Amino acid sequence: MSTGYVPVLVVRHKVTDPGTGARTSPLSEPTPMGIRSDPLRKVRPQPRDQLRLAHAQRMLQASGFAASGRSYGGVVGMDADVVLWHDLDAPTWPGARTALSEYDMRFADRLAVANTAATGGEPLAQPSRIVECRSCPWWPVCDVALNEARDVSLVVRGEDAFALRKLGVSTVDELAAMDPATKLATPLVGMPLSDAVILARAWLRDLTVVRRVRKVRVPRADVEVDIDMESFGDAGAYMWGCLLTGKDIGERQGYRPFVTWEPLPDDDEARSFGEFWTWLMLVRTKALAHGFTFRAYCYNELAENRWLLFSAERFAGKPGVPTVAQVNAFIRDPAWVDVFGSVRDQFLCAHGKGLKIIAPVAGFHWRDPEAGGENSMRWYRDAVGMDGAPAEVSQRQRLLEYNEDDVHATLALREWMSSPAMAELPFAGDL
Ligand code: SF4
Repeated sequence: MSTGYVPVLVVRHKVTDPGTGARTSPLSEPTPMGIRSDPLRKVRPQPRDQLRLAHAQRMLQASGFAASGRSYGGVVGMDADVVLWHDLDAPTWPGARTALSEYDMRFADRLAVANTAATGGEPLAQPSRIVECRSCPWWPVCDVALNEARDVSLVVRGEDAFALRKLGVSTVDELAAMDPATKLATPLVGMPLSDAVILARAWLRDLTVVRRVRKVRVPRADVEVDIDMESFGDAGAYMWGCLLTGKDIGERQGYRPFVTWEPLPDDDEARSFGEFWTWLMLVRTKALAHGFTFRAYCYNELAENRWLLFSAERFAGKPGVPTVAQVNAFIRDPAWVDVFGSVRDQFLCAHGKGLKIIAPVAGFHWRDPEAGGENSMRWYRDAVGMDGAPAEVSQRQRLLEYNEDDVHATLALREWMSSPAMAELPFAGDL
């Protein structure tokens, strides 16, 4: 192998499992020269890594920077202990294709689709709803086309829609007509077929949500705090918004944000996080001292838990900041409730389980018609004057209202789930 570059990715998933035979090199020698057969690890198949490496390798070759000879690509996974090497010229793909030839074939296909679209030809691709649609600027166009076609991808995830089409089930109507007890040779990935059929039937009746269970339950308490955290990428969590409701404990009820407007990353985040945690613990202590029950709620705890732990780790020892052990104890306590979990376990949702979709069914609406995660990133950049631009105070207010509405949405959802309205909501078993 001559002098030149080889691609190495750092990824946020596991790339090996215990076993033998993976081709790895030490982190201190991240080149194919250090490759050896690993006595402790086997490869965890990750086709997406190989395609990304093939993409990087083709770019290196096109720009004249690639090492000559056989094409290798390295990956450093979650464990960050070795570099795993893929031989991009090995026939490891179906049909004895290599990662590079698979990539070339897919890239040529995409180019043909784009070129045909650019030259006004008959479209070579049709929309199918996938996760990326959420942030795709073409969604307004594809949404109309998918609804006109009553495409099956409107109710099941991308790969399941692909699998169902292969079985001749291309529309929501065809899915709804299936027997929910049908056994598929290869089960769907996103949900059991029985759920998919019920969802399709719900979609046909224009029902956003149906009950999976006869009696919907959500844990409630005398003193309740709804919490929503706002972060900016991996740079930090700039806001912890809290809504205090329930019995009087001598603390002001209502919404209270703990926020830093210093552009992240900045140590002022430690101040705002410390104040948030101190207030939350004070509320809990006061509630228990009054003999009241206490619970705190969020919608999809993954994000909140991640930033609770990460903030405790990064700001250890700063005023008000808990230890990681204290945060872990809080997260494990049944008094920390993920409302998303209650929704996921007790409802089938024809249009997704996001708060922005479910809370309106409970009668809640955001003040800002553009409220959403993607937009909040843009507002944040303007609010703090990122990259030296003057800070826009109006965008701070917008973010505060957005966060306040999010915690009110969680409360509205919980109240709806505990109300007699549940009895009116169609039950999946009746569809
Ligand atoms: S919105 Fe349309 S173009 Fe964008 S990812 Fe979805 S299907 Fe593809």
